[in-house]
Amino acid sequence: MPKKRVTAVGSAALDTVETPHGRIEDALGGSVFFIGAAGGLFAPINIIAVVGDDFPMNEIDFLKQRNVNLDGLEVAAGTTFRWEGHYHQNMNIRDTISTELGVFEGFQPRLPEEAKKSDYLLLANIHPSLQLDVLEQMTEPYLVAFDTMDLWINSARDEVMEIIGKVDLVIINDEEISLLTGESSPILGAYEIIEMGPQYVVVKKGEHGAILITRGGSPFLCPAFPLANPKDPTGAGDTFAGAMMGYLAATDDVSPLNLRRALVYGTITASFVVEEFSLDRLKNLTIGEIEERFRQFRSMVEF
Ligand code: AMP
Repeated sequence: MPKKRVTAVGSAALDTVETPHGRIEDALGGSVFFIGAAGGLFAPINIIAVVGDDFPMNEIDFLKQRNVNLDGLEVAAGTTFRWEGHYHQNMNIRDTISTELGVFEGFQPRLPEEAKKSDYLLLANIHPSLQLDVLEQMTEPYLVAFDTMDLWINSARDEVMEIIGKVDLVIINDEEISLLTGESSPILGAYEIIEMGPQYVVVKKGEHGAILITRGGSPFLCPAFPLANPKDPTGAGDTFAGAMMGYLAATDDVSPLNLRRALVYGTITASFVVEEFSLDRLKNLTIGEIEERFRQFRSMVEF
């Protein structure tokens, strides 16, 4: 049986990032590239996003060797979306220095026919009205996952709520969940989201790992893989979501146990991306390296 496909819509960007370990300018970024690079190691992925005519297309050549279909990557006249972020000494804290929308401002996602038929849909972080638009274009997705950010929770709350009522899996970080639900406990916040419709909620807690809450099931707690020298946390959340969805599509199994495994694969894959800036570590990452770290992780949490 051929593997199931993932369709992912999100941002395509050129990032300027400063961390205590260095600085990069106009480097490859945006949620869809982290998702494609990570998820494509597990299953075929269609990417839906927009870049400007200034975008260095050769930088994403490696994605074509990795099960990533770029037919849904539109090249529009104008400049690519640019984001600049600076991380504090404690890299859990970052400031957005600037956001230049460029061609992202007029983005109207148009899904290629093949993408519409995917069984797995990942609505990564973009304006919720675009996420809704993409969801409506899909034929009959089996599992729809949703990610967002504080900007949309603050500025487009009603649309965020509307879309949460239509998806199966919400992937959200601890700060966003308290902003959304008013709950300071991520577990209680996740149960509130379950009440809104979704079957599953994953709360990401950065270096403190992630929690999976399922309707009617018991919570699963997943620590982060301990790293000696993280350099740049940008894209860790997207890498996590991409690997998790890729693994679910590859196995085509959303049983409670397999969801837990998918969460661990997400955690492990994300632990690689932060070792280098931008997508540098993902470019040469292999499934063998992921499996090796998966085994190390398993022995660390076994008791
Ligand atoms: P993460 O570290 O997982 O939150 O994702 C970082 C990526 O999000 C960067 O590569 C940015 O280009 C992208 N990004 C930053 N701000 C936005 C935004 N307002 N909308 C969509 N993507 C964004």
